[in-house]
Amino acid sequence: MINLCKKVLGKARKKNSKQPSFEQPIILSRDQHPVSRKHISHNALKVLYRLNKGGYDAYLVGGGVRDIILGFEPKDFDIATNATPEQIKELFRNCRLIGRRFRLAHIVFGREIIEVATFRGHHDSDEEKSCQKTSKQNEDGMLLRDNIYGSIEEDAERRDFTINALYYSAKDFKVYDFANGVADVYAKQIRLIGDPETRYREDPVRMLRAIRFATKLDMEIHPDTKAPIKTLAPLMANIPPARLFEEFLKLFMSGKALANFELLRDYSLFQYFFPAVDQQLNQKSQVYLADFISLAMKNTDHRVNNDQRVTPAFLFAAMLWYPMQEQIQRLNRETQLTPQDAFFGALSEVMSEQQRSIAIPKRFQAVMKDIWILQEKLVRRDGKRAFKALEHPKFRAGYDFLLLRAEIEQPNISQSEPGSLQELAKWWGDFQEANAETQQVMIKSIVPSKNGPRRSTRKRKKPRVKSTSGEA
Ligand code: ATP
Ligand code: MG
Repeated sequence: MINLCKKVLGKARKKNSKQPSFEQPIILSRDQHPVSRKHISHNALKVLYRLNKGGYDAYLVGGGVRDIILGFEPKDFDIATNATPEQIKELFRNCRLIGRRFRLAHIVFGREIIEVATFRGHHDSDEEKSCQKTSKQNEDGMLLRDNIYGSIEEDAERRDFTINALYYSAKDFKVYDFANGVADVYAKQIRLIGDPETRYREDPVRMLRAIRFATKLDMEIHPDTKAPIKTLAPLMANIPPARLFEEFLKLFMSGKALANFELLRDYSLFQYFFPAVDQQLNQKSQVYLADFISLAMKNTDHRVNNDQRVTPAFLFAAMLWYPMQEQIQRLNRETQLTPQDAFFGALSEVMSEQQRSIAIPKRFQAVMKDIWILQEKLVRRDGKRAFKALEHPKFRAGYDFLLLRAEIEQPNISQSEPGSLQELAKWWGDFQEANAETQQVMIKSIVPSKNGPRRSTRKRKKPRVKSTSGEA
């Protein structure tokens, strides 16, 4: 089908005599492309039909069309229409209108959400520029609001990449290609529509999207689309932390975390997600950090690609583990705090700094804290402590975290050496498998070491810590 599509594309282009323009798209008829209703979710088809029946134009657009042409299963289905959000709401009882910057309709079918966007228009007329309600830009050229509606041609021009400006109609079964996107799909090219610098200034997240699509679809970023990224990277500072959290999930929880991490670092974009980690990576102040992050990401990718459960909290805990250690050590050096107070002091500082970049929801912050606290609990396992740790609701995550550390930290110490992380990890592996009798023997045989229970002889002092939005 791919070959047929390429051939047909050549013919369709000849018929149109030149490159497509936004007024004259390449139109591929039903037998000239692989997109058919059997690839599209039932619910997305329902939405397309209902909009058409209501007298509106409606198209499947973006990843839904692109991925089917590539032979992938689309992650979700996005629809574009000439109906306004209010008109969409009138047609669907299960409709929620969302977004201020970019107003959209979500049609909710249980767990599946079909996103329906009204065709976007241009911003160039003075009247539109002055209409603060529908469109607004900051001094860097960033669009703070993008709610001017327009025609399908204008909508196509306002999409990010050529491969995302493909529209499929469930009325005539044709694919409308406005920006030569089908050719770029086959050439495996990520190419921005319009002037790259202007498009990145309008929305710096497009820099992240270029990287994400390159790794996800195994494509190259076109040189013109690639060129301005490093220079414009500082625009990322304008992205609200809540949006960056959403982008974090897409980049790091979709099976391509390691590849995205490496590209983000290459393009100087990673620092806007994790400034403290980026600083440590640049200064090489933590010997294990780079390997630790890479391994955590490799594991996450493996789990995602094998349909195993993952939580962003684990990756956040791994990212911030060494910045936490550095803060704890600093507080130990500079203050008289007990180990526990130093931990909570560091937690507060690291989290409040991190929250300025990515808004990590409180429920994930709580899990990160549990994972970190468990690292200490897994060391002090005498008496009843081991059983208590085992019953901890986040034991599994804490144990997996210990395994990760054991793979990276002290790799030269022999497995059997008492006090090594490898020995500790092995002990916990055996303990979980052992019967009650063996567990008792294992606990009795713990040699009290320098890692054993410690009580500070220092005078307790109230920690001087900043407040944080996180749970501390
Ligand atoms: P996937 O859903 O597989 O991640 P997608 O291309 O469908 O990829 P979405 O984030 O679902 O991406 O967005 C749907 C479509 O909306 C995109 O294909 C693109 O046409 C348009 N779009 C999304 N974000 C932007 C943006 N920041 N600027 C311009 N167009 C965008
Ligand atoms: Mg999508």
